[in-house]
Amino acid sequence: MPRALVTGITGQDGQHLAEFLHTKGYDVFGLVKGQNNPKGDAIRKEFPFVQLVPGDLADLTSLIQAVEVSAPDEVYNLAAISFVAMSFNQAELTANLTGLGVLRMLEAVRIVGGNQANPMRFYQASSSEMFGKVRETPQTERTPFHPRSPYGCAKVFGHDIVVNYRESYDMFACSGILFNHEGPRRGLEFVTRKVTNAAARIKLGLQHELVLGTLDTKRDWGYAGDYVKAMWLMLQQDEPDDYVVATGVTHTIETMVELAFTEVGIADWRQYVRQDPRFTRPAEVDLLIGDASKARDKLGWKPEVDFADLIKMMVAHDLQWEASKAGITTPDV
Ligand code: NAP
Repeated sequence: MPRALVTGITGQDGQHLAEFLHTKGYDVFGLVKGQNNPKGDAIRKEFPFVQLVPGDLADLTSLIQAVEVSAPDEVYNLAAISFVAMSFNQAELTANLTGLGVLRMLEAVRIVGGNQANPMRFYQASSSEMFGKVRETPQTERTPFHPRSPYGCAKVFGHDIVVNYRESYDMFACSGILFNHEGPRRGLEFVTRKVTNAAARIKLGLQHELVLGTLDTKRDWGYAGDYVKAMWLMLQQDEPDDYVVATGVTHTIETMVELAFTEVGIADWRQYVRQDPRFTRPAEVDLLIGDASKARDKLGWKPEVDFADLIKMMVAHDLQWEASKAGITTPDV
């Protein structure tokens, strides 16, 4: 059985990837930080096949131990401070975990993996936020980076150090430059989930307004379940490389709000939505839209779930989830 170590197992992508690797017959190990992390219990319950190992991206010794214990064939480094807005408030922490954390994981793999007959393969979760103030549209693997947040800057360091370790130590290390991807497991702080959750709660009478920043911001949004397949495909190739993973289609936040409210049967969504400048970023990225031709041609990857179906899936989940928490019967919509 192949073995995989996934950092960020408690996050959105970690859960999707654990599920996917399990269906592929992997022994899945997941890195969990902290003392008695409650998210670890949730993983044990929902994914009993995952073996949890303790470790923190800030602590190299713990990462070396995690790699030793799990002895993986493949390492997926998904852990990070991943919320752009938070990175402006906690820039140093973001640089330490989202940036230097990648270096520590690579070191753990280099130190432990150096003793193995078959070199471990390494995947890094790079981000479209590295393009920031974009130099060209759409963005490809060759588009220069111009990050616009501490998160984007930290991801650029992570991306560059992966290239450096690949070239310096001949490591099988890849980066997936993933554009935004969402789903019912997305954290409630992210705008897609904030919108689908609010639409559900407003429908159920549990919330009365939705406060957002700018509505005309556009993003290239895909489904997380599709994107983790691309991560795995990258590590199955003969040569390590970097790939853009995107849908190539953008939508505004306004379109998303309209779709979500329509889904719960509310036509006049504007009466529930208020804009507040507190939710705008100090520096915003330009139009992020990805060209995933390389992933399509070399990996045979393409997205399966379109934007409308993604929002529909998220709203349906949130309606059911919020209704069951509140002890309300889920309404037919
Ligand atoms: P997420 O839901 O925010 O998950 C982040 C994970 O990192 C959580 O499991 C978290 O653990 C873990 N983590 C945070 N600090 C840690 C530390 N010090 N040591 C060990 N683990 C730590 O993020 P996601 O959406 O799944 O994204 C996965 C990766 O892809 C991230 O690196 C993100 O930046 C990147 N990415 C995401 C997108 C997207 O649209 N989702 C796009 C491009 C790139 P706790 O739960 O215990 O805090």
